[in-house]
Amino acid sequence: MIPAALPWVASLRVVQVHRLLDPEVLARRMKLEADAELCPLCVARPVRVRSTGLCRVCHLRELAERHREAIDELEAQRELWTARQQLKRGRDRGSGAEVEDRAGE
Ligand SMILES: [Zn+2]
Repeated sequence: MIPAALPWVASLRVVQVHRLLDPEVLARRMKLEADAELCPLCVARPVRVRSTGLCRVCHLRELAERHREAIDELEAQRELWTARQQLKRGRDRGSGAEVEDRAGE
């Protein structure tokens, strides 16, 4: 769901979908595909994104995967901070040796 404060995001998505389905754009793509190099990941579609050398579908999927990876890294970082805080609290309570031994397991 798109927040009401960002209506331009919704209109941008509609414009992007319309542009992708435009008959002229589709015809241009068909002409270019005749001698185009195939995407190394799917080996089914032509390379369309020069920066990655992938087709647009694989490029977007890889981008989504990198975003998911970044989210996982943030969650792992939060877990590490929480574990460190718990260890520090244990030490502050005077049971540092016991907590430290457990952390080394
Ligand atoms: Zn591909």
